[in-house]
Amino acid sequence: MTKKVSLRMLSVENARLEKIEHPLFDEKNVQVFVQRDDLIHPLVSGNKWRKLKYNLLAWKNSKKEGVLTFGGAYSNHLLATAAACQLENIPCIGMVRGEELNPQSNATLAQCSALGMRLIFMDRMTYQMREDKQFIEELSYEYPNYYIIPEGGANYYGMIGCQEIVKDFPSDIQAVFVAQGTTTTSSGILLGLSEQQSLFVVPALKGFDVAAEMEHRWRYAGFPDELWEEKQIQLQIKTVDQFGGYGKWNEELIQFIKVFYQLTKIPLDVVYTGKAMYALMEEIKRDRFNHQQVVFVHTGGLQGNPEELKYLFTI
Ligand SMILES: *Cc1c(COP(=O)(O)O)cnc(C)c1O
Repeated sequence: MTKKVSLRMLSVENARLEKIEHPLFDEKNVQVFVQRDDLIHPLVSGNKWRKLKYNLLAWKNSKKEGVLTFGGAYSNHLLATAAACQLENIPCIGMVRGEELNPQSNATLAQCSALGMRLIFMDRMTYQMREDKQFIEELSYEYPNYYIIPEGGANYYGMIGCQEIVKDFPSDIQAVFVAQGTTTTSSGILLGLSEQQSLFVVPALKGFDVAAEMEHRWRYAGFPDELWEEKQIQLQIKTVDQFGGYGKWNEELIQFIKVFYQLTKIPLDVVYTGKAMYALMEEIKRDRFNHQQVVFVHTGGLQGNPEELKYLFTI
């Protein structure tokens, strides 16, 4: 079998750095840019594409026929993998958390399935073992022809793919803001920033131990502990727990997203980017970035139920 990963697949040409305007930015004399990774692909949540890039190149160099990965019922990563594999004709399997679900349980799963991803539903206990070494070995025995990509593309390949996000940032950018799930995207960005630049991360999970999780990721990816020690000095954590934690939102967040869209024409999602942008605005209000230049990395995430999206962006 000949394997092709076309340039189309790996292209990020739609992404761009965009300066945005807002009355608050004038008042505080701050310049805000948005890295529009949300424009990379209509279905593939921007950072998921970046995380898949080197994983798919690794698949290409392997002897495996297809790819297998993991995700929850609303996973942007599952959908991204399904879309990328459909484009490239790669057989793919999605292991989904929740044995009670089926391919029609929600819009995300239905779309994954329509794109040709074979969905296998796992009970939550088994799903918890998805990073366990022995479990992965057993799985590769069961699916010998599938290259296994961890949940969220959270490995070395995912990190170096995300390092490229900041590649073309102007050097006078002082701070970068990004939403955090598995910490893979933020880890890649941190690797790519120069010493004088700071990274502000906004975890989507409540009560999340950012430093412990990132240290674990860096070690798992094979980076020396000293590198993490050195780079974590540039890291700042901003939590926005008032919206109720992962996957939860309230009217205040919805209003924030609507008003932000009216002013900037940039859509945000309720799980990741809406909360991260809220955190950035709070910091600007507190005079944290006066006379500075900040980049907000828009990681995408606007997939799922079209009715819900319409509700957010029609005014
Ligand atoms: C998955 C996702 C994130 C989190 O990225 P990690 O690399 O898992 O930290 C952030 N924003 C959006 C829109 C996502 O889909």
